[in-house]
Amino acid sequence: MKYISTRGQSPALEFEDVVLTGLASDGGLYVPQSIPQFSKEEIASWAGLSYQELALRVMSPFVAGSIPEDDLKDLIARSYSGFRHDAIVPLVQTGHNEWILELFQGPTLAFKDVALQFLGNLLDYVLKKRNQKVVIMGATSGDTGSAAIEGCRHCDNVDIFILHPHQRVSEVQRRQMTTVIENNVHNIALEGNFDDCQTLVKQSFADQSFLPEGRQLVAVNSINWARIMAQIVYYFYAALSLGAPHRPVSFSVPTGNFGDIFAGYIAKRMGLPVEQLVIATNSNDILHRCLSDNDHSRKALQHTLSPSMDIMVSSNFERMLFDLYDRDGDKIRGLMDDFKSGAMTLDASALERARTLFSSYRLDDEGVIDVIRDVFERCEYLLDPHTAIGVAAARATRRSADVPMVCLATAHPAKFPEAVRKAGQSKDPVLPHHMADLFDREEKYSVLANDAAAVHQFIADNIRA
Ligand SMILES: *Cc1c(COP(=O)(O)O)cnc(C)c1O
Repeated sequence: MKYISTRGQSPALEFEDVVLTGLASDGGLYVPQSIPQFSKEEIASWAGLSYQELALRVMSPFVAGSIPEDDLKDLIARSYSGFRHDAIVPLVQTGHNEWILELFQGPTLAFKDVALQFLGNLLDYVLKKRNQKVVIMGATSGDTGSAAIEGCRHCDNVDIFILHPHQRVSEVQRRQMTTVIENNVHNIALEGNFDDCQTLVKQSFADQSFLPEGRQLVAVNSINWARIMAQIVYYFYAALSLGAPHRPVSFSVPTGNFGDIFAGYIAKRMGLPVEQLVIATNSNDILHRCLSDNDHSRKALQHTLSPSMDIMVSSNFERMLFDLYDRDGDKIRGLMDDFKSGAMTLDASALERARTLFSSYRLDDEGVIDVIRDVFERCEYLLDPHTAIGVAAARATRRSADVPMVCLATAHPAKFPEAVRKAGQSKDPVLPHHMADLFDREEKYSVLANDAAAVHQFIADNIRA
């Protein structure tokens, strides 16, 4: 399988090269040249497969030509061996035909583990094969950093540097990162905010001359195609469990960078009968405004109870636009240029298509608290604030009670005790067993000034030979 850039001016790459690249050189994002299709009969024949067996079927066509099937099978087995549930992504019922898909059974209690456990193993595999070493550099406001660190802590050929804003992430989130003490893992607490972290990382990708000879930076944010690919699997898994392909299934997805829901859209393109795809946003609602009013304009970032969705601009939406505009790279370049000055407007036909594919909904913090309380009162099931937005969006936009609605649970409630407390819980949700001693573990991190030269020096000094 070859991959092409959404802006049409970079050469097509093989899967392995896409995994090791961040943005395409023309500024675009890589997408598969064609979307693999499965017939209804083939999908039906997968009923009853384990998560790992299904992952092999769904991911194989995307890595064709790069990774032999036996190797992929082995990568999948290793990636999901650390999950706390045998189903990997169990379903829980919270209402008539309403289901929660628990994507938080991985090591850091957020759905990002599903993709980043896989990406870590994949990088290790590709790099060993090529006898190459790389440096991962990323900025995090919380969840991505810990999931990336957990994914890469055992990678021999990866040194990972994660920047977080000093004293501005929650204690659980910080400790999930800083208590990993392997010598290829480096946490940098930057004296600045999340934007400063992100700016510094972007600047470093643009000029990598601070790295030793032969090393390059690899991106682990959701612009990395391998993350999207690994997320397609759970749409198939949940839908098959609920009767697909013999009946359709709908999904509601707490959305930030549009990576997760984009995987759902790809699943649909591959032949999965998906009835509704609901984009659930918090007050940072650029996607909801785009779909409802054709208003895709930047607004000031708001800090909410669902911090992992506090995103001004959804980077993966560009991949969606590429398809909405019939894969016309010139059009996408034009749109993205418009957007640089603050806003873009979709063509009538692209907007119409987007509205056919997606529903959307926005929920503010007050609404989040109401939903957490309501679901707890009715079924004694505790939602985290991100998942709560998905549940509210599902209920508000649902077109048919006959079609199962799956709400993606993107984090464990114990990660976000503040919201849970506000919803009237007298006790904080309990951390799962493997993390029970989190607050007693030793931490390792370095506080650095918000200064590129200082950070680059630190990285150069700490890369293993
Ligand atoms: C990252 C994250 C999201 C948003 O996912 P996207 O793929 O960026 O849309 C939602 N909820 C939680 C808990 C997350 O960590």
